[in-house]
Amino acid sequence: MKIFVSGTDTDAGKTFVSGSLTWGLHKIEKPHSYWKPIQTGLDDQSSVDRNFVDSLHSCSLENGYDYKLPLSPDQASDISGAPQPNISDLIKKLEAFASNSVIIEGAGGLYVPINHQNETWLDFLDATNLPTLLVARTRLGTINHTSLSIHAIEDAGHDLLAVVLSGEKNPQNLASLQRMFPKTTFIELDYIEQVGSKQHLESSVELAHAIAQKYEEWVSSLKELWTQFDKDNVWHPFTQHQIAEAPLAIERAKGIYLYTQDNEKLVDGNSSWWVNTVGHGRKEIRKAIVRQQAKMDHVLFAGATHKPASQLSQRIIALAASKLQRVFFSDNGSTAVEVGLKMAFQSFANKGDFNRDTFIAFEGSYHGDTFGTMSVASSDGFHGVFKPFMFDTLKVVPPTFHRSFLCPDGADNYEERIKTMREVFAKSHSRVAGVILEPLVQGASGMLMQPKEFLKEVESLCKQYGLPLIFDEVFTGLGRVGAPFAFQRAGVQPDIVCIAKGLTGGTMPMSLTLSTEHYFNAFLDQDKSKALLHGHSYTANAIACAAANATLDIYQSEDLAGKSLSIENKFKNFIQSNLDLGLENPRAMGAILAFEIPGSGMGDYFNSKATLIPQVARRHGLFLRPLGNTLYFIPPLTITGSELEFALDGIRKTVIDLK
Ligand code: PMP
Repeated sequence: MKIFVSGTDTDAGKTFVSGSLTWGLHKIEKPHSYWKPIQTGLDDQSSVDRNFVDSLHSCSLENGYDYKLPLSPDQASDISGAPQPNISDLIKKLEAFASNSVIIEGAGGLYVPINHQNETWLDFLDATNLPTLLVARTRLGTINHTSLSIHAIEDAGHDLLAVVLSGEKNPQNLASLQRMFPKTTFIELDYIEQVGSKQHLESSVELAHAIAQKYEEWVSSLKELWTQFDKDNVWHPFTQHQIAEAPLAIERAKGIYLYTQDNEKLVDGNSSWWVNTVGHGRKEIRKAIVRQQAKMDHVLFAGATHKPASQLSQRIIALAASKLQRVFFSDNGSTAVEVGLKMAFQSFANKGDFNRDTFIAFEGSYHGDTFGTMSVASSDGFHGVFKPFMFDTLKVVPPTFHRSFLCPDGADNYEERIKTMREVFAKSHSRVAGVILEPLVQGASGMLMQPKEFLKEVESLCKQYGLPLIFDEVFTGLGRVGAPFAFQRAGVQPDIVCIAKGLTGGTMPMSLTLSTEHYFNAFLDQDKSKALLHGHSYTANAIACAAANATLDIYQSEDLAGKSLSIENKFKNFIQSNLDLGLENPRAMGAILAFEIPGSGMGDYFNSKATLIPQVARRHGLFLRPLGNTLYFIPPLTITGSELEFALDGIRKTVIDLK
């Protein structure tokens, strides 16, 4: 077993407990090593923890970092001038140990900063997922310190194995703690004057038995048969259950990584269905969610309002920096698009123009799975069966700058396509309620990328014929394409914009439909039926708004739109330096890399090799989910340089293996 030992305080008795535990485990024939990742106070040999542990039973490994002064690690390293500890280095050291059975003793309490990046032992737990043994004193003050530490561990999503109360027995404190934390195991470790005595040995063995049992219970709780319940009871999206392989059982997610139930670590190569822009498990968002839930979780949003929603609307409008001045809240990408379509249609109806019975939409588009969004999309494969219930739309081919099933000749014939589009507008504009498209990149149809001149052309046609231009930025919005919004990168001004995926950094379902004041005004009347009569129970959920506000903070402070542009450059370099692979139609925009796998033809959606991508990519540490024969990679925008190198190397190896 591997256990992390922390204390409620310095001098809580961590080393006494760790030493007693390793000694007891040795005696019950479950030998464990002892490791002190960071030792401060080296000057005084009597306070060096491994010396104490070895005095009971020699089992310690070399300390991770040693500092002379008895200070917190960040200060001790400062004064000594020696390199500061950091979590990723500690993990490497831990992984290098041959032994799998280690008792790891932290320095100080959970929140002690170990470096100037303010990493703490909670970050160590984030990275290792180890269960914690918390050591507390028995004397006055322990109730408060113990409570705070238990909350710190559990609120950060970690597992507390047990609390060891070390020192002279204090039945009243124990009773209070047991009453306050009925689900927590408290173990008393007797105060023993004679370290190493028979009495000490006996209590160490008792402690070892108790902890070994708790550890076994913890391991079996991880292996609980929940995947069987999934198989028996869950109906998954886009899944043919008769032939689908068992879904990947994901236990946790941190940064750009997903961890399976078997602790397999995989790069989240599709940002969890394109929503995760900021990396998993961000503390800032967690904090915002917890605070908002404590303050006010959810209230209805008709006839009532609240600060998180109002702040979010103001911030998103500032980010859009355009004519978009109004924000309508809903819960997912499909509803954001439905709302956009309703805004467009009703803006005419409210003026008495009831002739608008269609929309101009684009081949290859995907806007969601509700009936309205299916109608304006063009995916027979996904939605064909529902055709009897869909309304008709006028479909135009959007040009792609690379070869695609929509434009087999790539950018050639661009002018001809634009000409055809102009003809559709000219012929049918009077029956059109609006024009909807995915700007710059059509995602679900295979990451098809457009030249921005095309969007300018659509914008000018919409202006010419007085048609609302609706941009579905559910995927492209919030930094994915190298700018906060695709319309900014393209230099065009839509009337209505739908956003969703990156909005809460992948934490809470939420979407927005932004409109110009012109379309908002089209609904103003004394007649209530001319209002936008649309709303969902969870409209503007306050917790989701708080998550979105915290996400925008990260987005701005880390300049994720700029980061996305620099990722685009790295993707372009990857394409150039991997010409030998024979990638088909390789392309990149913002933090989106896509190509058809070598040897697969255009529109070869059901290519048999492509179906192998997920399993081959897993061998190289990647979780990829192709779109037919299109392999795409869209990581969280916070991916670091070395993580990106690792992932791109994995993609190269995946392609080679597929050949
Ligand atoms: N529009 C676009 C461009 C999308 O990519 C998606 C989802 N992939 C949607 C709308 C629908 O969003 P949701 O799945 O949240 O309903």
